[in-house]
Amino acid sequence: MRFSEFGLTTLKEVPADAEIVSHKLMLRAGLIRRLASGLFTWMPLGLRVLRKVEAVVREEMDRAGALELLMPAVQPAELWQESGRWDKYGPLLLRMSDRHGRDYCFGPTHEEVITDVARKELRSYKQLPVNFYQIQTKFRDEIRPRFGVMRSREFIMKDAYSFDLDQTGLEASYARMHTAYTAIFERLGLKFRVVDADSGEIGGSRSQEFHVLADSGEDAIAYSDEDNYASNIETASTSSDGMNTPAATEDLKKVATPGIKTIEALCESLDITAGQTLKTLIVDGTDGPIALALRGDHELNTVKAQKIPGVASPLTMASPESIVKATGCGPGFVGPIGLDIPIFYDHATLGMSDFVCGGNEKDMHYTGVNFDRDVEKPATADIRNVVVGDPTPGGKGTLSIARGIEVGHIFQLGTKYSEAMDATVQDPDGKNQVMSMGCYGIGVTRIVGAAIEQNHDDAGIIWPEPLAPFDVVLVPINMHRSDEVKEAAETLYAELREKGLEVLLDDRNARPGVQFADAELIGIPHRLVISERSLAAGELEYRHRNDSESRNLKREEALKLL
Ligand code: ATP
Ligand code: MG
Repeated sequence: MRFSEFGLTTLKEVPADAEIVSHKLMLRAGLIRRLASGLFTWMPLGLRVLRKVEAVVREEMDRAGALELLMPAVQPAELWQESGRWDKYGPLLLRMSDRHGRDYCFGPTHEEVITDVARKELRSYKQLPVNFYQIQTKFRDEIRPRFGVMRSREFIMKDAYSFDLDQTGLEASYARMHTAYTAIFERLGLKFRVVDADSGEIGGSRSQEFHVLADSGEDAIAYSDEDNYASNIETASTSSDGMNTPAATEDLKKVATPGIKTIEALCESLDITAGQTLKTLIVDGTDGPIALALRGDHELNTVKAQKIPGVASPLTMASPESIVKATGCGPGFVGPIGLDIPIFYDHATLGMSDFVCGGNEKDMHYTGVNFDRDVEKPATADIRNVVVGDPTPGGKGTLSIARGIEVGHIFQLGTKYSEAMDATVQDPDGKNQVMSMGCYGIGVTRIVGAAIEQNHDDAGIIWPEPLAPFDVVLVPINMHRSDEVKEAAETLYAELREKGLEVLLDDRNARPGVQFADAELIGIPHRLVISERSLAAGELEYRHRNDSESRNLKREEALKLL
């Protein structure tokens, strides 16, 4: 490709609305252009990268035996009513109606459509297992589209759906997808981790996410290198192993703390740390309010807390009125002593003694509180976000925390959709059996942003080679003034293309500084500079995008290296 014919405009300025580096670089390098909130055009340079991602995904899905199909993006409401998601999916679902007043949505995912395909096409267990996939545009009306293509409203997903006769079959299909996904992210040259994930409303089924590791990631991942444990922080657990309650040294006292409702204010006024306080949160329960107690410096984990029997799901904090009704005091002064509603303690509270908690009376707190003596020693549960240094659930080693970008998600659905939509096949005994399903998503467009988050420097993008829009960029110096340079550049361009390389020839009449800056910004892995000086020595100046220095190579050497 000739730069002059490629219609590529790069930007010097950092676009104001871009918060993270990949978004900035994608706009500056001209990979994408914004149309409206969460909607982007993939420009020719960006599309080349996107196609590379798609090609790797497609190859590995095919290799795993999955069958590509293409479903409509627009889906009739009836299917969603059948699965029960028309009402449940909420504002993320873009709904619309046609000229006859019939309701539709723009698919955010395709479980309903594929289950409809499966129930019509699959009759016998002999047709199983089967795994259908597509690479297609989705729409989710995200509440906060941001980070460019990483959290957009319209995006491209590879979604796959497996059908098996039973759970054993499903587990085998799931394992094949686990292997395929691992191969995909390895081939794309990305550093990633597979983590356990929340399986939403469907309890018990297995679900794992693939995360590209990057500091800007929206997800936190807890992991231990000692026993291979890795989980999204949403579900990461710890244990109460080795937790001992120290002996009491202080007397119980009730102290006045007028107007002090937050942990920070409490710590400041009593000169203590948040870890010495116990916070008691009141949430809605199915049978009235429930108290959740945890160390003041710890954070409640909603996914875990809403799984406690009796706690309302989705987790809802109790209103100030119901807190007053349940505890006799307002928010900020609630504590376990004398509290007359069910209370669940986090594991880590077992390690507390001489602590401070609310006095269940306006403007009052207790200090010197100890379990057994002042309040019953609790049976504890896992209800908080893990922190660095927590013991792993398996008891081997401690947890570290890294940030990640979710680029893939594999999921054992079981019979949730096949049952609701009556997708059955005949089993070997001629009986109808509801199929077991798995679903497997990859954020194709998100991968491009994630790759840049992981691979860039101050000058721009550093593409992992499998993703690069071009393999080589040729930078002739002053080719519009030197026939010698022009000829050498043209010959090299033809020769490299002949050898099957994807080459970008910077044939613009531009200053070398501009040419170099653009080559670095768009991140092509290999760069060859052609100048009168190097030609005189029979050499070319070579630099890999990862190198800090150029080196002169004989023409033949350069060709061989490429
Ligand atoms: P997230 O937690 O990031 O909102 P999700 O868990 O809702 O994603 P899935 O339903 O698991 O997403 O979809 C499969 C994949 O699609 C995700 O792993 C992610 O890579 C991609 N994806 C989901 N939402 C978006 C989005 N708004 N923009 C770009 N990619 C997305
Ligand atoms: Mg997901």
